[in-house]
Amino acid sequence: MDVTENLEHVRAAVAAAERDAGRTAGSVGLIAVSKTKPAEEIRQAIAAGQRVFGENRVQEAQSKWPELKAQTPDIELHLIGPLQSNKTADAVALFDVIQTVDREKIAREIAREIAKQGRTPGLFIQVNTGSEPQKAGIEPEAAAQFIDLCRNELGLSIRGLMCIPPFEDNPGPHFALLRKIAKAAGLEELSMGMSDDFETAIAFGATHVRVGSAIFGAR
Ligand SMILES: *Cc1c(COP(=O)(O)O)cnc(C)c1O
Repeated sequence: MDVTENLEHVRAAVAAAERDAGRTAGSVGLIAVSKTKPAEEIRQAIAAGQRVFGENRVQEAQSKWPELKAQTPDIELHLIGPLQSNKTADAVALFDVIQTVDREKIAREIAREIAKQGRTPGLFIQVNTGSEPQKAGIEPEAAAQFIDLCRNELGLSIRGLMCIPPFEDNPGPHFALLRKIAKAAGLEELSMGMSDDFETAIAFGATHVRVGSAIFGAR
C-alpha cells in the first residue's frame, strides 16, 4: 500500500471535483481517516504533506497521536466517531475538532470541559440524515433546535454539520439535506463524503471530506 501515491490520487480527485462543481480550488479540506492504521503509515502521510487527520475512537487516538502531534505541531486532529460522556474530557484535551456532537448531554459536557480546560476544539454537529435507529446523530427535524441550544444556552461556537449517509442509499439526497439544514442555521461548513462518495459530496457543497481506505487501504 503506497500511502504517498494514494494521497496524490485522492488530492487530484478532490481538485477535479472542485473544478467540476465550480468550487474554488482548495476550498475542500481533505481529512485523512487513519483509524486502525499504525503510526508508521500515518507518518508516510505526514511526510507527504498531509496535516489533517480523523480518528473515530478516543482511546485509539490517545495511543497514537500525542507522540505524532509532538513531532509535527501543525497537525489538526478530528474526532469523527461517537463520543461517550466518560471520554469527553480526554476528547477535548486531544482533538482539535470534534465532529460528532449529537446530543444534549454531550454538548453540556463539552461546554463544561472547554470552560475547565481552556481549550476550544472546533465543533460540528452530527445529523442522522437517514434517521437510522442504530446510528448516532441528531434527527433532521430536531437539528435546528439543537443548534440553537448549543449556541445560545451553552455558548458553544458551532462550525458546521457532519453526516454519514446510510450505506445502501444514494448519498446525494442526504448531502442535500445536510446542506439545507446548515444553510437555514447560518452554518458554512459541511463534513460529508468518504472514499466512495467524496466527489458527489463536493458537488453538493462539502467543505470537508473524510477519506480513509482510498488513502490507507482497506481496514
Ligand atoms: C471510517 C470513516 C470514514 C472513512 O471511510 P472510508 O470509506 O474508509 O473512506 C469517514 N467517516 C467516518 C465517520 C468514518 O468512521
